Amino acid sequence: LNNPAGTAASAAAAAGVPAASSSRPRATSDYGSIRASALHQARLRIESDVDCVSYAPDVTVEGTERQRLVDNSGEWYFESQHAVSGEELLSAKFESLDYDTCENSLWAAEDQSRTVWDLRRIELCRWLVHLLIGVVTGAIAFFIDVCIEQLAKVKYRYMKSMLDRCIFHDCLIYALLLWIAFNFIFVLIASCLTVFGEPVAAGSGIPQIKCFLNGIQVPRVVRLRTLVCKVLGVLFSVVGGLAVGKEGPMIHSGSVVGAGLSQGRAASFKFDLGIFEYFRTDAEKRDFVSGGAAAGVAAAFGAPVGGVLFALEEGASFWNQGLTWRIFFSSMTSSFTLAFLLGFYRGIPNDLSNPGLISFGKFDKLDYDLLHLAIFACMGVVGGLSGALFNTLNEHLTKFRHRYVTSKLGQLTEAVLVASITAVTSFVLIYTVRSCQPLGSDQMEYPVQMYCPDGKFSSMAALLFQTPEAAVRSLLHDPVGTYSVTGLIAFCLPYLLIATWTYGVMVPSGLFIPSLLIGAAWGRGVGIGLNLLFPTHFTDPGKFALIGAAAQLGGIVRMTISLSVILIEATGNVLFGLPIMVVLMVAKWVGDYFGTGIYDMHIELASVPLLPWEPPSRSAAVSAQAVMSSPVTCLYRQERVSRIVEILRAEPHNGFPVVSGDLGPGTFGTFEGLVTRNQLICLLDMRLFDDGDPNFHLANPVSLSDFRRVYPRFPSVRQLQLSEADLMKSVDLGRYMNPAPYMVLHTCSLARIFRLFRGLGLRHLVVIDHRNQVVGLVTRKDLARFRATHTGDLKELQFTG
Ligand code: ATP
Repeated sequence: LNNPAGTAASAAAAAGVPAASSSRPRATSDYGSIRASALHQARLRIESDVDCVSYAPDVTVEGTERQRLVDNSGEWYFESQHAVSGEELLSAKFESLDYDTCENSLWAAEDQSRTVWDLRRIELCRWLVHLLIGVVTGAIAFFIDVCIEQLAKVKYRYMKSMLDRCIFHDCLIYALLLWIAFNFIFVLIASCLTVFGEPVAAGSGIPQIKCFLNGIQVPRVVRLRTLVCKVLGVLFSVVGGLAVGKEGPMIHSGSVVGAGLSQGRAASFKFDLGIFEYFRTDAEKRDFVSGGAAAGVAAAFGAPVGGVLFALEEGASFWNQGLTWRIFFSSMTSSFTLAFLLGFYRGIPNDLSNPGLISFGKFDKLDYDLLHLAIFACMGVVGGLSGALFNTLNEHLTKFRHRYVTSKLGQLTEAVLVASITAVTSFVLIYTVRSCQPLGSDQMEYPVQMYCPDGKFSSMAALLFQTPEAAVRSLLHDPVGTYSVTGLIAFCLPYLLIATWTYGVMVPSGLFIPSLLIGAAWGRGVGIGLNLLFPTHFTDPGKFALIGAAAQLGGIVRMTISLSVILIEATGNVLFGLPIMVVLMVAKWVGDYFGTGIYDMHIELASVPLLPWEPPSRSAAVSAQAVMSSPVTCLYRQERVSRIVEILRAEPHNGFPVVSGDLGPGTFGTFEGLVTRNQLICLLDMRLFDDGDPNFHLANPVSLSDFRRVYPRFPSVRQLQLSEADLMKSVDLGRYMNPAPYMVLHTCSLARIFRLFRGLGLRHLVVIDHRNQVVGLVTRKDLARFRATHTGDLKELQFTG
């Protein structure tokens, strides 16, 4: 079967069987795989359960079991398929967000009725919300920081006194048990909050926010409950001694704050302030989420510009100048709030020099020459390689987890196991690596003497017996001679393995700090080596620790613009910007050769239909016909209530073109507009059944506010209570549909359709022919299937249910 048009309908027609009925629900995956086979010119065998069997020539479809058409009450449809391999699949369960404005008559009426004062008030509210986002995000960062500081104090004070005592009384095993107990309890709390409280709060949250900004509805990702679990969870996982940081989760927390504050209500608690009602749309919410993400970065790293660039890099497709300004405002406010509160807390209220949760401290001298730059570039290569290794190991672990660690008990067990093993490894390292440094050379609050002579303390403890942020600072600033190369290697390897295992465990966790710590350790090792070889030229190993940290982080996350600026701002030295940029670029290029960055990798493993930045290569020759779904379920302008209900029950789709004229073989109806599922449900819920009466709307005025009231939790069609009499009535969809949605001709290329979707944040794109008849419909999932292979060819992924 060679199916150039590539539609399921034509595949079926070519096989000599009737096409799927438009009113019958069809599994997304079936559709996609038939087209995949067509695109690959694969060979497909279609067989039937019933007598009138019609075989097409033999075909097997890559990655799926065979396709089958079965007869069901006289109609044909494709039965569900099973994926043979668990890889390279996209999940059909993710819904899209709608970032396009529905310019219907209600929208036009609202727009017309607004005075200049209304417009100013809305703009003022936007700024006010961005201000609040900054303040609340900064306050959350302060809360996390102070709680971690206090809890860490308790933990390390007890631990230190126990260790000091046990060295003399030969009871180190009890010190180890105490360490395990501390880690176990704190991590158990963090994991319970995640497993039983809100599973979506696990991890850093950056992949989820990236998806949200890309236009994908990740369930429960911006809910208040998620925020609570994330904030409490992260402070327990950091104090629990895991190889995690609190910075990544700040980005997620800021985004939830943005999504929540802008709506003026907490839907989970049925609490509505009745304000900011105008912002209750996907497009407005997305802007506030971008502001929240930027505020989170600003609070985490003290990097307001980095925050803006992070939101730009991750949500780049939908951007405007006004939004840039407001996001910058949120970032600055958040950074300022944190600095202000920390100043108060530390008893120096006028000191605003604590702008972020992590600070790399003050570098006296960060000079470099061409030779330095060349060495830094080589370190970028090492960062790219070790980042790729980290990601590959983590990918295998994540797949293992998806398969075997699925029960709640399993997830809790894994979390506490990692916590215990981290404690044991740290203890063994401090016990075995006997490198000592003089007291006072490090700002460490609880120096551990272990087997060091009086006046000295274990330098391994400086890395493991404090929070990872403090350890990074130690590596950047401790004087020459503090650490030995063997000690750093002994630290680096196990820590890398533990950090790889930890990212993905069911606790809120950030990846920035462990990556920086690993990189700073091997970077400092490079610096020490160079210092031994050329003592006059390479005097400061801290500089190399900083470059190693940047290289490792860049090799893992592969962010370039925003990460450069974040690190420059955290370092507080613009002159060192060039080396940081060079290193991040090199690390990204090298890492990209082996695979994607960790966030993209996790998005792929979750089978999220994310649209990449650019259309896949060789997509210009593929036309809309090969991409679209056809036939399309359409509605008439004046539509019967019973048919709308029937379609909403039978079809899972969220968008329906509105047409006029006859529908029949070869006739698809003239395109009039597009109506969404949520709009239809609201119409039915409000019983706006006009039965063709032109005066109905005067007697029953309705506005956009009535639709926003139920946003975003629209009732399902099953919750509607309609009487038999209601079902006999009809609705004028013309008033509510979008009369001018984006549409393309059937000859349009995949590349252009892709750019339209990515650039405008579309959810549905109607495909028409030269007679303005609806011949197909394209959604995000139709596009996300297309990917470029390593050789630059176009491939199509399959969908799972
Ligand atoms: P989303 O929830 O992502 O906004 P949706 O539910 O409307 O979108 P998808 O789940 O993306 O649609 O679509 C699944 C498949 O169904 C896609 O191949 C899409 O082209 C097709 N499809 C969507 N709407 C219709 C429709 N009205 N008629 C026929 N096919 C449709």
